[in-house]
Amino acid sequence: MEKPMPIERQPTHPHPANLTHRQQRCYFTELTCDLVAWIAGKEWPWKVEVAIDEWTIHNPRLVKVGTQKVLAEDRVHHPGGQHPRGLAVDLLIYIDGEYITDGTHPIWKYIDERAREMDPHFGLGIHFNDANHLSYNE
Ligand SMILES: [Zn+2]
Repeated sequence: MEKPMPIERQPTHPHPANLTHRQQRCYFTELTCDLVAWIAGKEWPWKVEVAIDEWTIHNPRLVKVGTQKVLAEDRVHHPGGQHPRGLAVDLLIYIDGEYITDGTHPIWKYIDERAREMDPHFGLGIHFNDANHLSYNE
């Protein structure tokens, strides 16, 4: 009897170099929405809630100083990262009602694996110690 062929993933994802910036932003948005829906709909061993924070970051950005708003340099996000290009978001994960600040929590690895399955250029910043940072082509 013939062995069944291994299932090969179809390369449905485009290479970032073949996409314009607009197309990358639209594609990243689609991937992010699908991933967030997956996180929210998956049966986890914990009660998991997800939110999105810090999508496009403009630099300089408006910050409040006292009662005034002034333009200031963004010191939170890496200047060479994908936030200024609209190609990164930060995921907020709550487990049993608690905000997860531990970047080594196993849920980040599960989420990153799912993201990389969706597209190898899409995933979390686990390898640069920013586990909740989700980005495209970084
Ligand atoms: Zn980030």
